[in-house]
Amino acid sequence: MKLLEYEGKDIFEKYNIPLLKRFGVVRIGDSAESVKLGDCGPWVVKAQVLAGGRGKAGGVKIAKTRDEAYTHIKNMLGMKIVTHQTSGTALTVEEVLVESACEIEREIYLSVVLDRKEAAPVIIASAQGGVSIEELARTKPELIVRTPVDPLAGLMDFQARELAFALKIPKKNLRDFTELAKTITRIFMEVDASLVEINPLVITKDGRLLAIDAKIVTDDNALFRHKDLAAKPDHETSEIEKEAKEIGINYIGLDGNIGCMVNGAGLAMATLDTVKLAGGNAANFLDVGGGANVEQVTKAFQIILKDAKVKAILVNIFGGIMKCDNIAAGIVEATKKLKLNVPLVIRLEGTNVKEGKAILKDSGIKLDTADSLWEAAQKAVAAVARGEGRGERGEGAERGNSLP
Ligand code: GDP
Ligand code: MG
Repeated sequence: MKLLEYEGKDIFEKYNIPLLKRFGVVRIGDSAESVKLGDCGPWVVKAQVLAGGRGKAGGVKIAKTRDEAYTHIKNMLGMKIVTHQTSGTALTVEEVLVESACEIEREIYLSVVLDRKEAAPVIIASAQGGVSIEELARTKPELIVRTPVDPLAGLMDFQARELAFALKIPKKNLRDFTELAKTITRIFMEVDASLVEINPLVITKDGRLLAIDAKIVTDDNALFRHKDLAAKPDHETSEIEKEAKEIGINYIGLDGNIGCMVNGAGLAMATLDTVKLAGGNAANFLDVGGGANVEQVTKAFQIILKDAKVKAILVNIFGGIMKCDNIAAGIVEATKKLKLNVPLVIRLEGTNVKEGKAILKDSGIKLDTADSLWEAAQKAVAAVARGEGRGERGEGAERGNSLP
């Protein structure tokens, strides 16, 4: 789960990471004046979207006067923002953060990520942080330093000091920096993060060390350990994904038009790849889970069909403990109940597959079966190409994940 900058800073504040004074967050629909700006400026107004690069895209504005600050807030709320991290799509600014601005002497990059090979956190840092860090990584990778961290002991004092020397932290800020480096490593471990990033960590003209941006990504699988984080809205989740989660189906919306219903996450991933190999694109990742009964299959079909882009459904189920004949009966019942209006391709394998196929054949329902995943993927791609079903009315295809 990706946290917005102000949510990240809420966590930083709890850990005493030095921050600029925050005046508040204004949400779309609120009046700009609802945020009290304190005694004196300057202020910085920042678009709260889940992407970096806001600075270069008009999402970070400095205001010298109150009027200017309120104007920036009004202009920014509802604004569409495209940055080099939004993969070509525009994000709508629904919240802005207002804090006091500072005068920057130097910008440093500091982050903690997971080093999968070492199975341990690693600090990635550069003395030349700021908005061009990606460019620096490409052109001068030698200016980026890596410090591996022992996950049990945390960042050692000597490592924090070595890092400070590598980043040419002024003597005056040495203590603050080593504390901060150790603290963000602790945050990384304690919130089960996959990324804690401060870019930039600045040294101000008046000699303070401050985190002026915050990016935290937490591991969804550990949310059960963090009731406060789990209670927050997940800004990246679509309406369909939220509904799926509520009824216990693992669903992630994708860009394609072949709805996939699969049991098991590994098989689901393999199915997406095979669809791609066959020349198509999956509309979703969906794992119905171990208990693929009528109710669960019906719910899964309903979820898949909420995506208006879906032009065919591919079912790929491996009958293990759950037998193929039970699954087939479930699919037949769900299909009848829902009056499916898109082509359906089914591939069953595993226990009682013969009986399962017989049930599908005798059901009288218009569907296509396949013996292998490869055959199923090709059939689904061909069905989309033939253009049967609801997609051909030409509506909805551009609507993305909106509900019908
Ligand atoms: P990002 O571009 O989305 O990563 O947003 P940041 O919060 O990192 O801000 C981008 C850039 O805006 C920073 O690298 C700074 O150069 C500048 N900036 C942000 N806050 C301040 C501030 O308080 N004072 C000044 N002078 N510049 C700021
Ligand atoms: Mg930044």
